[in-house]
Amino acid sequence: MKVDPTLPDRLARTGGFNASACINCGSCTALCPLGMGPFPRQLFRYVLLGAREEVVRHTEEIYSCLLCKMCEDNCPAGVHIAENVRTLRTFLGREELGLATSEV
Ligand code: SF4
Ligand code: SF4
Repeated sequence: MKVDPTLPDRLARTGGFNASACINCGSCTALCPLGMGPFPRQLFRYVLLGAREEVVRHTEEIYSCLLCKMCEDNCPAGVHIAENVRTLRTFLGREELGLATSEV
């Protein structure tokens, strides 16, 4: 697995990304109505580790998120999950899909 140590900073510059407070409790994954395996908890871990390929591999889940905030409203660490997902979409759209920011 290739590691991109600049990934967390680049995401933070893209639009705000606050996953470092995550205590890995799993509530978000358990409550998500989409029930998408490791999303969103594991996805944030990939970002913090700089595992860009793993983030890209979950593009479909990132774009499937309903932004309902069921996870965020019950997060004990105050992680801005929906905002993080929006930031990830902007980042992936621009860097992986070649979309202009207005199309993301
Ligand atoms: S609910 Fe919050 S603290 Fe728990 S795993 Fe999800 S993001 Fe991390
Ligand atoms: S905001 Fe997205 S990740 Fe969170 S519960 Fe809703 S669909 Fe799942």
